[in-house]
Amino acid sequence: MAQWRKTACSLCYVNCGLEVQTEGRKIIRVRGDREHPRSAGYLCQKAQRLTWYGDHDDRLTTPLRRRPDGTHEPVDWDTALTEIADRLTAIRDDCTGADEGPMAYVGGGGQGNHSSGPYGHALLQWMRSTRKFGALSQEKTGDFWVNGKMFGRQTCHTAEGVEECDLLLVIGCNPWQAHGFNRARNVVNTIKNDPTRRMVVVDPRRTETAAAADLHLPLRPGTDAYLLGAILALILQRRGQDEAFLHARTEGFEQVAEVLRRIPVDEFIAHTEVPRADVERAVDLILGARAMTVRVELGVQQGRNSTLNSYLEKLLYLLTGHFGRPGTNALHSWLTPLWAESAGQRSAITGFEYIGGYLPLNTLAEEFLADRPDRARVMWVDSSNPANTAADTASFERAIAAADLSVVVDVAYTETAALADYVLPAASQHEKWEWTYFTLEWPVNYFHLRPPMFDPLPGTMTEADIYARLLDKLGALPGREALDHLTEIARTDRANLMTQAAPLLKDVPGIAPVLLHLTLGRTLPAGAAPAAVLWAGCHQAARRMTVQVQRALGTRLAGTDLGEELFDRILSSPGGLAFSKHTYDEVWDLMRGERVRLDVPELLERLAGLDPADDRPDPEFPLSLIGGQRRSHNANQILRPPAWRRTDPDGALRARAEDLAAVGASEGDWVAVVSRTGRVVARAEVDGTLRAGQLALPHGYGMSVPDGRGGRVVHGPRINLLTDAADRDPIAGTPHHKDVPVRLEPATAEERDTAQRDSERVRQLING
Ligand code: SF4
Repeated sequence: MAQWRKTACSLCYVNCGLEVQTEGRKIIRVRGDREHPRSAGYLCQKAQRLTWYGDHDDRLTTPLRRRPDGTHEPVDWDTALTEIADRLTAIRDDCTGADEGPMAYVGGGGQGNHSSGPYGHALLQWMRSTRKFGALSQEKTGDFWVNGKMFGRQTCHTAEGVEECDLLLVIGCNPWQAHGFNRARNVVNTIKNDPTRRMVVVDPRRTETAAAADLHLPLRPGTDAYLLGAILALILQRRGQDEAFLHARTEGFEQVAEVLRRIPVDEFIAHTEVPRADVERAVDLILGARAMTVRVELGVQQGRNSTLNSYLEKLLYLLTGHFGRPGTNALHSWLTPLWAESAGQRSAITGFEYIGGYLPLNTLAEEFLADRPDRARVMWVDSSNPANTAADTASFERAIAAADLSVVVDVAYTETAALADYVLPAASQHEKWEWTYFTLEWPVNYFHLRPPMFDPLPGTMTEADIYARLLDKLGALPGREALDHLTEIARTDRANLMTQAAPLLKDVPGIAPVLLHLTLGRTLPAGAAPAAVLWAGCHQAARRMTVQVQRALGTRLAGTDLGEELFDRILSSPGGLAFSKHTYDEVWDLMRGERVRLDVPELLERLAGLDPADDRPDPEFPLSLIGGQRRSHNANQILRPPAWRRTDPDGALRARAEDLAAVGASEGDWVAVVSRTGRVVARAEVDGTLRAGQLALPHGYGMSVPDGRGGRVVHGPRINLLTDAADRDPIAGTPHHKDVPVRLEPATAEERDTAQRDSERVRQLING
């Protein structure tokens, strides 16, 4: 009987603990890890499909170099890295005047594949560049910006007390399918079946979560800010604010109240198309709650007014005092933050602010296509597939073509890899030490370092090794003797390693992760070298949160001994562990300053300026498309082979029957979705849970995969052919993917034939 081994699911950012059985290089059985300190045995149906991530025909096993005709040829590692190093050096030397440097770095891991990030950043720093883009800046930076203003740091990120709340207010998300917090389905079912607890869902669609709720507010897409503004104004009208909390813990309430008092509540509610009585009932439930938790997601963060939405949802729980208590929202700790604190730097090209260290992914193409000397010139993509995930696929394709050098580091031959000058094959996250950095829990927080399940696929390298070898070729690393000396210190006097390494880090501090990998890493057991970078984070956490780390580990060690203990515990806990344990009154220690700042002038101005008259649908594109819907059988772009999608093999366009009928279509027909930027043909599926005029296409499709006959076939809709990179939030630049203006048209005969042929081919691949 094969042994059960512990790992984690990487198909959404909850990262449930798993136990798996393997056979050869395949995962053959998956079950929830009951001993996992956070997920405690929970898993959803998606985890059973994990094997498709690392086991398919598009795995890369050799570096590739682009030929003049656009095809790729295999080259050996030394050739690829030498040529890349020569070209990087030439570009860097040629770009001495550009403040933001010549490189744009996209990605750096995600969904549980996090180890590459620190090493990629070392390269970015060697290139004297700051331009960083990723999924976070496609989704979350508006939220980070608001957190920076209200809590004092962009790394102050909020958590939800879903397990203990008596009112769960869900806005713009469907935890039943998308999860987003631990044991989501259990939580939804528990609240549904408990007469003392309530759930309110704000969502245009009657999602599975909405159907389980006590109250569903099916607002018109894109009107969240109007609804939240009206609810806040009603709370004030009823004097529902928590005066004691506001007085003790916040500042700026009066400025907020002044704007809220002027909100034309009736007009705002009418604009949302939610019955006034239901809005009043939502206010009743909020004011009657003992402990409310607000849960939001991409429905508001990728909707219209997204940064303003992030502000208003926080005002909801802060004005009513539902913060920092059991069952309410709170902040959470970090081992090391997943993003940075930006110092107000802006892109010289687009003027967008760096938030959390990131520029908006929506502006990536502009950084390359600008006709100016300080434009970006190197496109470096790591564990990311912007050719499919960035808005406006065509502009991304122009941008990568305009780069002087483009390199992709990935496990698979993605759509982005197909366009790159060089492709470097990485070992998969099942073939190396990896960790889940989405540690977003409060008051106890967790970390999960997991050992590999398989040896690296021959021809691949871990990202840590790829970057170490490249930086060595670039001359960024100290010589062998210095590395050997530090390795010896790591073996004999580990706690002093960084002090000893400090002189070597003077010129390029960003290479610290690579130094740790090459020195401390050599001393770690069982090939755990890539995990060496965590050592520094453990020491920082032990310094920052001594008492909380002591509590979690059950130790009285302190200082460097505590950091060492934490690192050793992480290394020896293949099923994850709790690394910090706060008490509720310690939530205030996680902010900068002592009070939450409620008034954010830029956003109060936007709230005051909201006008339904400015917010009418474009008559040419009157329908609203959810561009990237989460469903029961889709995940991110890391699951490539069609075989894992027996359900919904075409990635259907969901629409109400009457919207399909308006273009003469019905269930199963091929229809064209048309936007300002493109046209996508998809198979229609009737869905009565959508609002009239609302359509949905799933995320995680549109991949070009081997067709089994020597060619390739595109599997499902490439939704970013439809999205417009300029249709974005004015502060964070996040896209309005959940409200893309489109229209429907009948597919042409040629489009129907092509779509049908591709669909049949995909179904043959699925059925073997
Ligand atoms: S909830 Fe997320 S992490 Fe957990 S099993 Fe499902 S997809 Fe994986």
